[in-house]
Amino acid sequence: MQEDYAIGPTPDRIKQLLQEAILRDYPNPERKGCFDSAILTTIAQQRLPYEDPHWAHVSHCSPCYAEFLGLRKRFREKRSAVRRFQFLLWTAVVIMVVFLLGLSAITFLRAH
Ligand SMILES: [Zn+2]
Repeated sequence: MQEDYAIGPTPDRIKQLLQEAILRDYPNPERKGCFDSAILTTIAQQRLPYEDPHWAHVSHCSPCYAEFLGLRKRFREKRSAVRRFQFLLWTAVVIMVVFLLGLSAITFLRAH
């Protein structure tokens, strides 16, 4: 991707550079102070406020950050699938209601 340096990097590009730096610059091969997957899952599901001290470790530990990114991606994909299903369900309900109202109107008009 070529960047226009007169305009500057986009927010997405800054985010990507920060993520790459965290993944590269905090190797922690001995996994000192690392959390188990349950805590990382809680963080990935955005159930902890940004002031929570767990964030300080995740943003300064490449292995935890890599796991966090994977968990967050899966969480967002699942949430997106649930929202698509809910949209389709509500669309079906609206279509059924409109159909039933139309059918009732036709039945009423034929009776009178
Ligand atoms: Zn860690």
